Amino acid sequence: MDAEQLRENAHKMVDFIADYYKNIETFPVLSQVEPGYLHKLLPDSAPTHPEPLQDVLDDVQAKILPGVTHWQSPDFFAYYPSNSSIAGFLGEMLSAGINMVGFSWITSPAATELEMIVLDWLARILKLPDEFLSTGQGGGVIQGTASEAVLVVLLAARDNVLRRVGKDALGKLVVYSSDQTHSALQKACQIVGVHPENCRVLKSDTHCDYALSPQSVDEAISSDIDAGLIPIFLCATVGTTSSTAVDPLLSLGKITKSYGIWFHVDAAYAGSACICPEYRHYIDGVEEADSFNMNAHKWLLTNFDCSALWVKDRSALIQALSTNPEFLKNKASQANMVVDYKDWQIPLGRRFRSLKLWMVLRLYGLDNLQSYIRNHIALAKHFEELIAQDPRFEVVSPRKFSLVCFRLLPPHKDDDSANKINHDLLDAVNSTGKIFISHTVLSGKYILRFAVGAPLTEERHIVSAWKVLQDEASALLSSL
Ligand code: PLP
Repeated sequence: MDAEQLRENAHKMVDFIADYYKNIETFPVLSQVEPGYLHKLLPDSAPTHPEPLQDVLDDVQAKILPGVTHWQSPDFFAYYPSNSSIAGFLGEMLSAGINMVGFSWITSPAATELEMIVLDWLARILKLPDEFLSTGQGGGVIQGTASEAVLVVLLAARDNVLRRVGKDALGKLVVYSSDQTHSALQKACQIVGVHPENCRVLKSDTHCDYALSPQSVDEAISSDIDAGLIPIFLCATVGTTSSTAVDPLLSLGKITKSYGIWFHVDAAYAGSACICPEYRHYIDGVEEADSFNMNAHKWLLTNFDCSALWVKDRSALIQALSTNPEFLKNKASQANMVVDYKDWQIPLGRRFRSLKLWMVLRLYGLDNLQSYIRNHIALAKHFEELIAQDPRFEVVSPRKFSLVCFRLLPPHKDDDSANKINHDLLDAVNSTGKIFISHTVLSGKYILRFAVGAPLTEERHIVSAWKVLQDEASALLSSL
């Protein structure tokens, strides 16, 4: 690594990225390429001799960017957001610059200690109970994704129980969730070996905006116990992926406590909103949880990846995930004086991800972060009001955060034609390249999802997105 060469090349790269952001609105938001497009544009083998950076950047411009879907575009409204920011970007840059691998405390004490401190900061901002702080038996850890977070806590819950009842009971373990829980839990169950028949996917309550009904959880657990099965884990969600439903944490937590099963709360998207006092009530009841997760990389200006997980009992994670090979032994770990995050996650190696979260919290400050969330929610509310003014559309489920679920109502309001026209509308809108939205299905209805949350989105983008939707809807309706 020649420092001067790095300086020169990195300056060029920063210029390239700054220009990318400057021009981001000129790209089609959803990439319009066909599968396999890149094979036709790039050679079959790597070069034998070095090539100039400028040639690579020219290829990025001409060949790579057309195949990029621009998640940071202000016209990106699909899925949930995946924020970047100047602070997040600088933190990533610094992390790449230092490029250490912080699996044990000794491999970079600052990485472990900063992660503990920053997750304690964020826990305090979210007003999580003190048991989640690193000062007690619990603590926070940065995982790559919410999927990894739920996997490690499910492993911890499984091993807690198997230590007690014996490994042969694996086939009897039962996991509970709702039909709105993210598929990440299903994958976690597959990995930890919960029998597919023992994954209880309970029907959410359509009268309560698709939240999980405590009564159905209670009944399912008690009937499983009667059948000789062993309930181990409930995953509740605050802000479900389809429609931002919020499961009633307090009642659910009381039930899990009474049966002694692990209670995990997945607030991957909506957790960020809970930094604002007026939205904090959505995680009321988190005191009852054994673990809580939110993705700072979704809606808290922290570049991907940064999924914050807190547990009340870190020893459960460590017992499930720790290994202690000779080649990693060291004085601090042997003396039990330090946290070794390798024992809180699946991989051994880990990046210095706390740097970017630390930079986000410091360079913006809580006040600005709260305004940022409030602004997106206000923009989503505005979009919802625009829909309400057009009788051809309906808002399908009440908006809580910055996601609006809506659909076009065709002249024949039967489900099949409504589903078809909304499917067609989604395709039509996304193939304009002007905006990108996504869909879900709720109670058999095909629904359009408009998630506000890109850092560059302003009111003018909301207004023009609505115009694109209206224009495409008019074209479809007149073709019927
Ligand atoms: N949980 C919820 C509620 C989500 O909305 C998502 C993704 O959108 C996930 C989990 C999975 O997220 P990840 O990609 O971090 O695994």
